[in-house]
Amino acid sequence: MSTKDYLEKDYYKSLGVAKNATQDEIKKSYRKLARKYHPDANKGDVEAEDRFKEISEAYDVLSDDKRRKEYDEIRAYGGGAFRRGPGGGGTQGFDLNDLFGNAGGGAAPGGLGDIFGGLFGRGARTTGPTTAGRRSRRGQDIESEVTLTFSEALEGITVPLRLSSEAPCPTCRGTGAKAGTLPKVCPHCEGTGQETRNMGGFGFAEPCSRCHGRGMVVDDPCGTCRGSGRAMSTRTIQARVPAGVKDGQTIRLKGKGAPGENGGPQGDLLVKLKVTPHPVFGREGDNLTVTVPVTFPEATLGGEILVPVHGGQPVKLRIPEGTPNGRTFRVRGRGATRRDGTKGDLLATVEVQVPQKLSNDEREALERFARSHRGEELRDDLVRQAKEG
Ligand SMILES: [Zn+2]
Ligand SMILES: [Zn+2]
Repeated sequence: MSTKDYLEKDYYKSLGVAKNATQDEIKKSYRKLARKYHPDANKGDVEAEDRFKEISEAYDVLSDDKRRKEYDEIRAYGGGAFRRGPGGGGTQGFDLNDLFGNAGGGAAPGGLGDIFGGLFGRGARTTGPTTAGRRSRRGQDIESEVTLTFSEALEGITVPLRLSSEAPCPTCRGTGAKAGTLPKVCPHCEGTGQETRNMGGFGFAEPCSRCHGRGMVVDDPCGTCRGSGRAMSTRTIQARVPAGVKDGQTIRLKGKGAPGENGGPQGDLLVKLKVTPHPVFGREGDNLTVTVPVTFPEATLGGEILVPVHGGQPVKLRIPEGTPNGRTFRVRGRGATRRDGTKGDLLATVEVQVPQKLSNDEREALERFARSHRGEELRDDLVRQAKEG
């Protein structure tokens, strides 16, 4: 049993007795309920078993005058000042043990340690180690962005990343309250951290607008964090970006996010990648693309052309006779590196160039070509089809 149990469990209610019940009343009620819910009388009934445990636990505490007094004290303090968030889970939930666990730990001049240290320390000693009731929590994922050159993305690179993440404020240990003061239950949501909004007949629970889901508010905010309870901590890590990553891709670095709480695992680091374009090459998945200019005679008669390759010597590519403008050729294995280490292809698209200047000889040769290759026939079909439509 921890202080948390004390705060959360109503032992009087469990036994169905009043807060000022005498030991006799407590004993009588316990016996009656214990008989009713005893596992022997309720074979296999899990609910009854739970109820029996609850009753026994309550009786353990309330039947012992010293422990009962302690319980009453903690309830009087804690019940008035603190309440847990809904469900007790999630990052928005307010966990008492986070607060008291931290506060009880070290020297805390004027802080929570002074106010509650003795009280909770005593409670904890009689019931077990303070860590027993602490809930561990996985650290948050941190998002980061990094810009790579085209080549860095293709070849992989290790980049230093400066990360800022939220951590509990060291001054107030996350309570957000000024030294010597305490946060109190949010009057707006009564400590649940949530408020319900009605939309078209449906109720939506959202974080309380007053306390932002924490369930607590502070009158006198901590000067360091201005009452938020959170502080930024900065660190630099080396992130290995594998070869072949793409623009817009996110890589997840396991365990490189925010540290966990109470021994929980670290969150992950999500690095969104931006890749600056290359003047010559483009990317299509694992393939690289390149546009290669060819002359009209090259396209018409066919031939060998040189195609640039990323990170290597240009390669010769044979284009066949009568290659149309815009045809794409595949150069195998000269693309981006895939996850398994194999490579994509280079897709080379030819672009037929129109000469801007002609010598006399060239002009004569082209005019001869034009006479033997009448342009009107080329568009006959097009014109006819246009009329029919
Ligand atoms: Zn603070
Ligand atoms: Zn609130």
